[in-house]
Amino acid sequence: PPKVAVMTSGGDSAGMNAAVRSVVKMAIFRGCQAYVIREGWEGLVRGNEEEQGEQSAAGVEQVKHGSNAAAAAAVAAAAEASSSTGFVPTYGEGELLKEGVSEAEELGLKGRYIVRVGWDDVRGWLDQGGTLIGTARCAAFRQQDGRLRAAHNLIKHGIDALAVCGGDGSLTGADRLRAEWPELVEKLQASQLISEAQAKRYAHLKIVGLVGSIDNDLAGTDLTIGAPTALSRICEAVDSISSTAASHSRAFVIEVMGRHCGWLALMAGLATGADYCFIPEQPPKGKWEDELCEVLQKHRQVGKRKTIVIVAEGAIDRELNDIKADDIKVVLSDRLGLDTRVTTLGHTQRGGRPVAADRILATLQGVEAVNALLEAKPSTPSYVITIRENKITRAPLMEAVAQTQLVAKRISEKDFDGALALRDPEFDE
Ligand code: ATP
Repeated sequence: PPKVAVMTSGGDSAGMNAAVRSVVKMAIFRGCQAYVIREGWEGLVRGNEEEQGEQSAAGVEQVKHGSNAAAAAAVAAAAEASSSTGFVPTYGEGELLKEGVSEAEELGLKGRYIVRVGWDDVRGWLDQGGTLIGTARCAAFRQQDGRLRAAHNLIKHGIDALAVCGGDGSLTGADRLRAEWPELVEKLQASQLISEAQAKRYAHLKIVGLVGSIDNDLAGTDLTIGAPTALSRICEAVDSISSTAASHSRAFVIEVMGRHCGWLALMAGLATGADYCFIPEQPPKGKWEDELCEVLQKHRQVGKRKTIVIVAEGAIDRELNDIKADDIKVVLSDRLGLDTRVTTLGHTQRGGRPVAADRILATLQGVEAVNALLEAKPSTPSYVITIRENKITRAPLMEAVAQTQLVAKRISEKDFDGALALRDPEFDE
C-alpha cells in the first residue's frame, strides 16, 4: 500500500493536530499506511538514527527473543488488521504521541523522526492545541544539502506522498523540494544512495500543502488553519481589556500578530468594535498621528468612555516606517491627554484549544489533502488545499506561495492597493 506521511512545520497553530488526525485517518481509510514526521523539516532532514522494521514492536520483540516466525507474522497481521503501527500497544492505546514530543522521546522515539502511526495514535487529537508531533524551524532545509537528505529519507522509508501543514515559509520549502526533486533524485542515484529502481519509483514527489497559520496570510485561500482560534483568543482578550478601559475611561493600544498580514488586527477590530486599526497592507493615507487623533477625538466627543486601538505587529506608515504600539501610546497621551496603556498579546494568541471552525477546516482539508495526493499524477501540479466561498478547493502550491510572497514585495514597494488586491482569491479572474 502507498505510504502517506504528514508533518507540521513553522509556527504552531490551533487545528494542526486536527489536520494530522484527519490525514492519518483518511490515509488509513483509503488503504494507505500512515506516517508522521516529527519536528517539521528538521525531522525529515534528520530521519531515523536507528531503522525500525515494518513489524510491530511486539512482533519485533518476539523475533528478537527467538520465537518462531509464525508468531511474529501473527502479531504483524493483528497490527495490520487494527491498522495500528504495532508499537502503540506497547505504550498503551493512543498514548504514544499524545503527551507531546518530549514525552514521546522518553518513550523511545529519541532519534526517530519518521514514525508509522495507526488510527489509535491520533485518537483525541481533535481538540488539542499546538502540534503534538512537534514543529521546528530548520536552517538545514534552506540549503540543498538539507533537502537532499530529506529526499533521501523519504525514499529510504518508501514514503510515496507527503502532506505539509505550515505557514508560507514551510510551504515555500515544500515548493522548493518539489521543484528540485528530479535533481535530488538524480544526485542520490549518482552517489548510489538509492537504487535505479528507487529512482524510477520515486521519480515524482507527491506533496500537498495544508495552510497552518494563525495570521491567515496565504493568498488564494479565505481562511488558514489556526486563524479562527487566534481571532477568538484576541477577541476574548480585547473584551477583558474593554471592561477596564470603560470603567476608567482609558485608552488601550493592543498589539496583535501579523507581520505582512493585517487580517487578525482588522477582524479583531470588527469583532470588538475597536476605534482604530493599523494594518500593514493599508497604512493611513495622511500623517497617521493626525488621522488617528481626529477619529478618536470624534468618538470621545460623542460620549465613548473607552478607546481601543488595535495594531498589527507589522504595521507601517506609507514611508514604510514601523508604527509601534508605544509610539501610538505617546500620541494618545500627549495629544489627546488620554490615560493610555499598551498590551501586547503575544503568544496567548496562538491559541490552545481550537475553536470549532478550525477543527472543521482542518478535518475537511485533511481529507482533501489525502485525495489530492492519491490522485496526483506527474502531469498535475502540487496543490495547496484552500477554502474559497465555503468550499474546500485546491490551488497550485507554487502560485499560492508566489502570490503570497508578492504581497510582501508590493508592500515593500509601497504599492498598498496592489498588496490588498493580491489578498483577494479572485484576483486572477
Ligand atoms: P509562520 O506562519 O509561523 O511564520 P512558517 O511556515 O511561515 O510559519 P518559517 O519559519 O517561515 O515558518 O518556515 C518554516 C521552515 O520552512 C523554515 O525553518 C525552513 O526550514 C523552511 N523554509 C522556509 N523558507 C524556505 C525556503 N525559502 N527554502 C527552503 N526552506 C524554507
